[in-house]
Amino acid sequence: MTEAAHWIEPHPHGIYIKPADAWIDPSRPVSRALVTHGHADHARGGHEEVWATPETLAIMGLRYGTHSGQAIRYGDGFDLGGVKISYHSAGHVLGSAQILMEYEGERVVATGDYKRRADPTCEPFDVVPCDIFITEATFGLPVFKHPETEVEIQKLLSARAANPDRCILVGAYALGKAQRVIGELRNAGYNNPIYLHGALKKMCHLYQTLGIALGDIRPVMDTEKDAMRGAIILAPPSALNDRWSRRLPNPITAMASGWMRVRQRARQRNVELPLIMSDHADWEELTQTIKEVSPSETWITHGREDALVHWCSLNQMKARALEMVGREEEDD
Ligand SMILES: [Zn+2]
Ligand SMILES: [Zn+2]
Repeated sequence: MTEAAHWIEPHPHGIYIKPADAWIDPSRPVSRALVTHGHADHARGGHEEVWATPETLAIMGLRYGTHSGQAIRYGDGFDLGGVKISYHSAGHVLGSAQILMEYEGERVVATGDYKRRADPTCEPFDVVPCDIFITEATFGLPVFKHPETEVEIQKLLSARAANPDRCILVGAYALGKAQRVIGELRNAGYNNPIYLHGALKKMCHLYQTLGIALGDIRPVMDTEKDAMRGAIILAPPSALNDRWSRRLPNPITAMASGWMRVRQRARQRNVELPLIMSDHADWEELTQTIKEVSPSETWITHGREDALVHWCSLNQMKARALEMVGREEEDD
């Protein structure tokens, strides 16, 4: 038997598709890049040609300046060197895509990052059956079980209600998590202004431009300290403990991340109110997804590969861990 998908070569800095002479999420500049989503560990600047969803191109444009690229909508197919390629929603952040490649009768899906939970700021994950499933495994250990999002949002709202003279400062990454926290608060009926650190402003506005409703969002910079008592304020995680937060009324420090499940990580950032909210699949969702996609082989790109490889072998499925570098920089 010949090796499966011999036309795809996993390298530490990206997945190379030989007949298309193109790379998926290369971590260094290449001539042809297929980009799954806008996070910095997947979308780098400096490629000659880029294929990505219109939203991902807009995000790359915001981060790297004007970017020439081919906009690929979910479900649309195109041909590159005989490989039929199409993009399908990954449910991770706005515009995030899984890439389906069909060549010589084989179907290969590279997920990029994905999650299965509902997210008011992006399309849900699309199950795309294939022969080879190239999956992430950021939370690929049975201990990772994300709680219901509503429960975490209620924690945030209760802390706010119990402390009317203080504010709640929530650390959230600029792309995806910040907008999702806002969207989930709106879904929970919270309609007050939400205040933003300057570093979150542009991405939130881009989301609004792309049709995602975030309600009344305002810059902290233009607001009096006293007006922010009882308010919810979002900032990038790096700003949680810096001088900037002194302008806020006695903040309760929170952070929204899948890693808040790990107590040590919350302690490292002096987080009083950990909110476990992840944009990645947890263990059950990873294994459930593999069952649904039902591939003959699973390749695991980044995260905790070993447990998932082991799970696959217990379930009579072929699996291999790929050695990828430089992932998870702003992913949680
Ligand atoms: Zn990501
Ligand atoms: Zn990632």
